[in-house]
Order: sequence, then C-alpha cells, then structure tokens
Amino acid sequence: MNTGRRHIVTVTLVLILTGIAVGTFSQTHHPKDYFRSPLDIPIRLSGNFGEIRPNHFHGGLDMKTESVEGKKIYAAAEGYISRIKVSPWGYGKTLYITHPNGYITVYAHLKRYSDKIEEYIKKYQYNKESYPVEKFPLPSELKIEKGEVVALGGNTGGSGGPHLHFEIRNAITGYVLNPLLFGFAIMDSIKPVIRSVRVYPLSDESHVSNLHSPRYLKISGSSGNYRTSASNPLKLQGDIGFSVEVYDFLNYSHNKCGIFSIELQKDGERVYYHEMETYGFHENRYISSHVDYGEFKNEGKHLQKSFIAPNNRLSIYKETLNRGVIAINDLNIHEMKYIIKDSYGNTSTLTIPVQGHLYTAAKREGDMVRKIGPTKEETVLLPADTGLVNKQVKNSGGSEPNVPASMGLLPKLPEEVLSVNFVKKFHWQFANSFKNDDVRIFLDEGLLYEDVNFEYKVTDTLLGAVAPTHHIHNVYTPVHKLYSIAIRTDKIPNRLKGKAMVARIKNNGRTYYEGGGYEGDFIKTTSKYFGAFTVLLDTIAPRIRGLNIYERKNMSKASNITVSIYDKLSGINTYNAYIDGKWILMEYEPKKSALVFSFSDLGKYAPELSSADGKRGSHTFKIVVTDNRGNSSQMSLDFIR
Ligand SMILES: [Zn+2]
Repeated sequence: MNTGRRHIVTVTLVLILTGIAVGTFSQTHHPKDYFRSPLDIPIRLSGNFGEIRPNHFHGGLDMKTESVEGKKIYAAAEGYISRIKVSPWGYGKTLYITHPNGYITVYAHLKRYSDKIEEYIKKYQYNKESYPVEKFPLPSELKIEKGEVVALGGNTGGSGGPHLHFEIRNAITGYVLNPLLFGFAIMDSIKPVIRSVRVYPLSDESHVSNLHSPRYLKISGSSGNYRTSASNPLKLQGDIGFSVEVYDFLNYSHNKCGIFSIELQKDGERVYYHEMETYGFHENRYISSHVDYGEFKNEGKHLQKSFIAPNNRLSIYKETLNRGVIAINDLNIHEMKYIIKDSYGNTSTLTIPVQGHLYTAAKREGDMVRKIGPTKEETVLLPADTGLVNKQVKNSGGSEPNVPASMGLLPKLPEEVLSVNFVKKFHWQFANSFKNDDVRIFLDEGLLYEDVNFEYKVTDTLLGAVAPTHHIHNVYTPVHKLYSIAIRTDKIPNRLKGKAMVARIKNNGRTYYEGGGYEGDFIKTTSKYFGAFTVLLDTIAPRIRGLNIYERKNMSKASNITVSIYDKLSGINTYNAYIDGKWILMEYEPKKSALVFSFSDLGKYAPELSSADGKRGSHTFKIVVTDNRGNSSQMSLDFIR
C-alpha cells in the first residue's frame, strides 16, 4: 500500500487552492458524529485498527459483508472522490473520499464502483489501455453526498473473503487514524485476552532463570486479571526485556482483533507505553522490529515487544524509560505489570513478580563462544574445541541451515549455528557488507534495527538452478529496506542472460521472483528479506487458457469472456487483449488467475461489434501475455456474436 507523495501534495494544493477549511487535528478529539457507517447492515468486524499483519499494521476496519459481494457501500460523509485506484493486488478496487473537515475515508476491495465513478474510471482505463490505474479527480469532478452509494462491496486485491476495508486518514499528512475513535455503532465490552508473555536477556551479562536465552512464562487467570506465579518469582539479572501476545475480541464477532494500548510498569512506574491512535504508512515496516520477528516466522505468534530496538523509529511509542529495557541490578522482589486496553477502554492486566538474582556461573553455557566477539571483517568464528582455524569458509552443507536466531537486542545463537555460520558483526548504525568469490551483499545504513551477528553459508546447486544456494543470514531477522545482492552464476550463454532471475527460496521450497540484471559474471538485484537465494532461468512463456471461450464458439448469450493466465517462475508482467484488433479491458484477479472482459463495455467504452450484414458475425479475440523475463504467449481465436 502506498500513500504516494504525489497524492499528499495534490490534496494539499487542492485544499489551498479551493480554500476549503481544514479542520484542526487534535490527538484525542476526533468528531464522534460526523461519519455514518459505510454499510446499511450492523457493523461486525473481522479486523480492526492496529492489528499485527505481516510487514504492516492493519490501517483500518475490516467490516463483514455477510460473506457476500455486492453489498451497497455508502459515503461516510459529504466530499469528493479524490483518488481512485484499481490494482490486482493489495487494496484491489479502492475509493478515496476527501471530506471538508480535513479527513479522507477509504473504501477497499470493492467489486465495482457506482455508475458515475465506474464510467469515469473505465474511460480512463480504456484511454490508458490498462486495468491497473490510479487517478486523482479534481474536487469538482465527482462530488459526493453523505450516504450516497459509491460502490458495491467485493473481494478484489489481496482480500481473503468478501468484506469492506474502511479507513480514515488525515488529508494533510496521509496518516491513518483509528476509526474506532469516531463513534461508530460498534459494541465492545470484552476485555483483551492475554495469551503469552516472553522474557529476554538483553545483554551479555543478563539472565532469565539462570539462562542466557529467552523464555516463555506460564500465565494463569482470565477475564482481565492475569498473573504469573507469585510463590516462585521469576529470577532475573541485568538488562531484561518483555513481550506479550494479546488480542481483543468484539461483541458479535469471533475474530481476533488488535488492542489499543500496551503499558508495562515496574514497581508502579511506567517503563513502556504505546497506543494505536495514528501512524504513517512509511512506518509500517518497523512492525518487524516491534514484534518478536523470530517467533512470528517460527510459530506465527504476534508477540509485541515492550523494549525498542535502537533503530526502530515507530511513532506509536509514547512514554518509555530506557527504551523499555529493564535493569535488574539488585536482589529485591519487583512487580512487573502489563496494562492492556482496547479502543473502548476495556482493560486487562498481567502481573509478573520478579526477583533480582546473581546467576551462578556453572550454569551458564556457551559463554566461551559468545565472549569472543566483536570480530574483524570477514572472520569466521569457530568454537575453540573444534581445532579448526579461523578463516573464511565455504561450508557446503552438513549442518542444519538457519536455526532461528535474533529477536532481542542480543541474538540467540545456538552454538552449532554460531560456530558454522557466524561470519561478521553487522552494526545497525553503519552500512554493512559481505562478499566472497560468489556472492556480494551490501546494506545501506538504517536497514537493520539492531546489531546482527551475520551468518552466511552456501549449499549445493539445486536441480534447475544455475548457481548454488546462498544462505544470506536467516529468515528470522528482519530487514527494513531493500539491500543489494549479487550472485555469480555458472557460465551461461549471453542469449540466456536475460532469462536469468534471482529467486528467494522459502523453507517450504516455494520460490519468489527477485528480479536481477547482469554485471559481468554476477546477476545483481535487491531484496527486503534475508534467507536462501539462488539463480534460475525462466525460458517458459505464460500459459493462457480460455475458460468460457473456444474456437468458433457462439458467444451471443455470454456476458463476458474469461480466460486464465499463469506463469510459474518470474510471474505475469503485462497482458493485453483485443477484439477485432481493438484493445479491451480485462479485469485481473490473480488469486483466481482469471481475466474477465464484460461484453457490456461494447458500445460504451469499446466499439460495438460490427459485421458486414449487420447480423451476427465472426470476431477475433486475441490476448498477449508476457512474463517478467520477456517470455511471451498469445492466444487468438474466432467467436460468433
Ligand atoms: Zn483490511
């Protein structure tokens, strides 16, 4: 999802030029009676604001539409359509209404727009000859009344079932606001549910129950009152962090939703607080550092940390002491307490009695290895007892790849991983690089949230690949932005170089297209993920299949032409379809692999079909599809209509 700088500038200019009064924004005083519901059925939520999603916070409310498409979607207030975006991905068909009080409401995953908007955008699509479009109408073009039907609800884009995704944004900053603070008729009398809590040693000297590794605590209690064992306080030493897995539930809905605020206190003093009132889209990816990313990748758990990595710049953190890192340097009993609220003020607490403790040296394991760092460039650390010499190794397998590491300020590194893979320390404040004969990676500054003990190894070339598999650190450590990666390939003929692509390989073996172009013997690209990479050749053109059309079919009664398209490796890049040589709009739904043309477009946006005698005749349907490596397929067939 992108807010688009151009969009913000446009809106700002428009507001200035038209002299529309811009309401002043207060952090807490949002109008409670300005917006009506965008639906005419009771609002039931399957998702709410601030929920944890992969790589982003959920920026709005997911309103259920009784599991069907086609529900009427109403403008929440008067204003004008300021942006229409159509995409096969993400928000799908989306509508943005700018309101005179300085807010924008957003309606996503729509099935279709109301007639006047549909006509406006379809003309634009035919003009641009593209299904994905983004248009910023002028304030005078598409004025909207409060309660006007602006669209029908759907399931377009990255939606997993029919629903309306609804957002409220600040028109000036583009920041999303928590719609639950705007007085919608949504019932929530249910207290947040605390599922789990995890404790982390954050420095070399710190310990949790005498161990230098994170640990889950057993929680008891229910209906808002939770605690860990009082008779046996948790023994802690040094710098400690906590994280908590918590959900909210709303009345009349079984779906897990997100909470509003998390506060952590030590002996009654606030050490950490965040709240989900507003944030900017540019902050979204910091969520990877907000959560325990390793446990998210491993277990799918949404543990929210209450200690903040040095390069985590989320604006939701309001009042923290020492970035939420708790120093336990005495032998006293202390009380840690989580206070968690939902947007309606329902509150749950979790009390964690802890006691300062001096760890007993005999119990600490793995110290020898860990104490060796920090290291010099390109040096591999090997455990003292293996007898191996420090050198740059090209490990060709033999040990399990990618044991999970790093989610605290100090990565958890099981010894076998440390000994085999640890290559060098990456510092979050600086640019970092790693290279050997076959792979080069470079991370600009600001790409890591905290220091990382960077790991690398290489394993055998997979069947069908033209390079070995390079394990660039591991999938359990997040990266904030694109870093560059270059991989040397086996000698491949020049004519095939354009077909080579860098592929990221997930643990389940699925590959992801990461682009790439040659510089000498290296193919170079960028990625936002650590993990396993190789190079594949994509020489196979996309597959096209007619779903309701075939050669010489009589399509007189058909309302549409539907075909499926698919590309295995690099993915679909472009597609264009024509009837009798004239471009037609085919709507693309990747999750169905389907392209659909509506015959109702004929005579409206596309020319009416004509035949010599004015009666039914033969016409030619043609479609051309290319993938991201320039392989192209086409299908051409005649039909009767
Ligand atoms: Zn949503």
